[in-house]
Amino acid sequence: MSPEEFRRFGHQVVDWIADYRQGVAQRPVQTRTAPGDVLAALPLEAPEAAEGFDAVLRDLDALLLPASSHWQHPSFFAYFPSNGDLASVLGDFLSSGLGVLGLAWQSAPALTELEQRVTEWLARMSGLPTSFQGVIQDTASTCTLLALLCARERGTGHGATTTGMQHGGAPLVVYTSSEAHSSVEKAALLAGFGRHHVRKVAIDQDRAIAPAALRAAIVADRAAGLRPCAIVASTGTTATTAMDPIDACSTIAREHGLWLHVDAAMAGSAMILPECRHLWQGIDAADSLVVNPHKWLGVAFDCSVFFLRDPDHLVRVMSTNPSYLRTAVDDRVRNYRDWGIALGRRFRALKLWSLIRTHGTATLRQRLRRDLANARWLADTITAAPPWRLLAPVPLQTLVVRHEPKGLTGEALDAHTQRWLDAVHRSGSAWLTPTQLDGRWAVRISIGALTTEREHVAALWQSLQDAVRQA
Ligand code: PLP
Repeated sequence: MSPEEFRRFGHQVVDWIADYRQGVAQRPVQTRTAPGDVLAALPLEAPEAAEGFDAVLRDLDALLLPASSHWQHPSFFAYFPSNGDLASVLGDFLSSGLGVLGLAWQSAPALTELEQRVTEWLARMSGLPTSFQGVIQDTASTCTLLALLCARERGTGHGATTTGMQHGGAPLVVYTSSEAHSSVEKAALLAGFGRHHVRKVAIDQDRAIAPAALRAAIVADRAAGLRPCAIVASTGTTATTAMDPIDACSTIAREHGLWLHVDAAMAGSAMILPECRHLWQGIDAADSLVVNPHKWLGVAFDCSVFFLRDPDHLVRVMSTNPSYLRTAVDDRVRNYRDWGIALGRRFRALKLWSLIRTHGTATLRQRLRRDLANARWLADTITAAPPWRLLAPVPLQTLVVRHEPKGLTGEALDAHTQRWLDAVHRSGSAWLTPTQLDGRWAVRISIGALTTEREHVAALWQSLQDAVRQA
């Protein structure tokens, strides 16, 4: 496509996105498309002759938009928010337009140095000590994998990166709570710990890891001849945003010489609010942590920041340093290829930078406080309306609820939950996520889409009440 054609279609695309965002609230939040609908409408073969970008825009409207659910909808209460603020969308657009790759500082100096500065901004905004250095990765899953690779190599004196699978010694063990995100187990598997060496430690009444159980598990493994290696604590679990006690976890990690990684994928954004920082008290002592600005903060997916206290250790684990990538300035610069798995890196810093500069930190804090207030309002409303029940504390913006009519228990209660959730989804009024707590179904309400105001939360409460009448 020539720059002139790009100018023409680019304006159309920007208009398309602006219209989409302006009108998204009028659409049902979830699509009604059936599995295979899109596939069946797509030709089997790629076109031999040019169809032009007009054809892409036509199919976007006719085929793809009707088969899309709307994450940027004000009634999106599912999963966790994945807010793509339009300022960051523009930053992402610029990144693609520039088309530079960060293989080394020299391949993209601006990419490297903006990433360094903007991750420093995020650390300062979140009250992290300046000893933490950041790098932007695609997802929290990748960051947790990197953390466990670092832990493994510290635990083995770089044994696995030298002799690899042939490295002997007793098995290394990872500890996390039974509520940790599945990415922790996946990272442990990929890093070679093995499923048998991931301990899912018991939780307390607030659904946070129980320090006494954590310590006991480590002591028992050591007594059995295994090698405790890493703790992955969560600041905001996925089901309920439970907060593991980082202070206690870091004390235990220090006592036993374990790596402490903190998964703050969702709740890390809340740390731009000084009043929330008590929720990760002790974070200064973590070895690494991950925060996803691509969730609540508002950066268009993907943008996950991995902070480490000792990046030199990560570089030692990751660096391969082939001759064709060496440059004369290597001892004076960051080469982010050695801070992660991928060699080629996109200019992701542009979208984080665009978001922060366009809005300023005060506006970002204001939006998050709005969401906290909306969650508090809904929590109070539900608590005052039995047989509705809140099933977990609400430290931030996620509520886990159940409607528990007298006499309904066990599978009958599960069936009732499923029926009213289906009724909400059939109405198209909101999008929620089911979850299991202690083996029984419940429903998560995650507040925090960019455009969600009190009126949308109030409308959600109304549709929950309507749904149980139909269930
Ligand atoms: N950790 C937690 C607590 C999460 O809630 C999620 C996803 O929602 C993840 C990790 C995985 O995030 P990502 O999609 O960035 O890998």
